[in-house]
Amino acid sequence: MKMKPKIKIKNLGFYYNAHPVLKNISMEIAKNTITAVTGPSGQGKSTLLFTLNRLWETMEGARVTGQIEILFGEKFQNIYDPGFSVSTLRRRVGMVFQMPNPLPMSIYKNVVFPLKLKGAAKQADTPFRVETALKRCFLWEEVKDRLNEDARALSGGQQQRLCIARALILKPQVLMLDEPTSSLDDTACKMIEELLVEVKKECTILLVSHYLDQVKRIADTGLRLSRGQIIQEW
Ligand code: ADP
Ligand code: MG
Repeated sequence: MKMKPKIKIKNLGFYYNAHPVLKNISMEIAKNTITAVTGPSGQGKSTLLFTLNRLWETMEGARVTGQIEILFGEKFQNIYDPGFSVSTLRRRVGMVFQMPNPLPMSIYKNVVFPLKLKGAAKQADTPFRVETALKRCFLWEEVKDRLNEDARALSGGQQQRLCIARALILKPQVLMLDEPTSSLDDTACKMIEELLVEVKKECTILLVSHYLDQVKRIADTGLRLSRGQIIQEW
């Protein structure tokens, strides 16, 4: 079955000063799928994610070549188009990092935080959106009676699910996760795998993972980065 592309990467190159990290990558990422990116350390997996939400732009000496287009609504948007806002891009392309990074505030406030940044936290449906995001991350039952407690008191697995809920509250169209389970135990990993399979119904997911068994369980497409190039494994 030919799937609809959500992301089109064309001749993407990435350099830290003169050092090439990504070399002439061209590929399409299908909508509502999980694409796994594997490969040894230092191959540019995190860098590849950074190119998709322009997170590298504040790094000194970093430079991108080529093009990335993402389907927003009916049309593909070049995300490096000077007229396209980086804050809009980051609301639509969410990111979760390797180490859970809850903010030093309550569980509830953590999830609301992106809405607050957007100036949309005071709407009547905010508590409902928080509940929905936490439910999608299988966290609601565990935290519904302690929403005002400091998020840093949660376990590592709960914190990572909270960070995913915080990313989902903005209803991103693309969700990128950079080795999200590498600091977690097996049970916590499995929960995150399960929730990602649910989330992909509404979102296109890119998952950097070291774990081949994990990738085989949940990814629709497996990519390996090697020497700055992408090899599609399935
Ligand atoms: P991976 O996620 O696959 O481990 P990275 O994308 O983090 O790889 O890094 C790819 C390459 O870019 C590595 O060689 C790394 O040393 C280099 N690199 C990463 N960040 C920087 C930086 N801020 N400045 C210079 N080089 C960097
Ligand atoms: Mg990395």
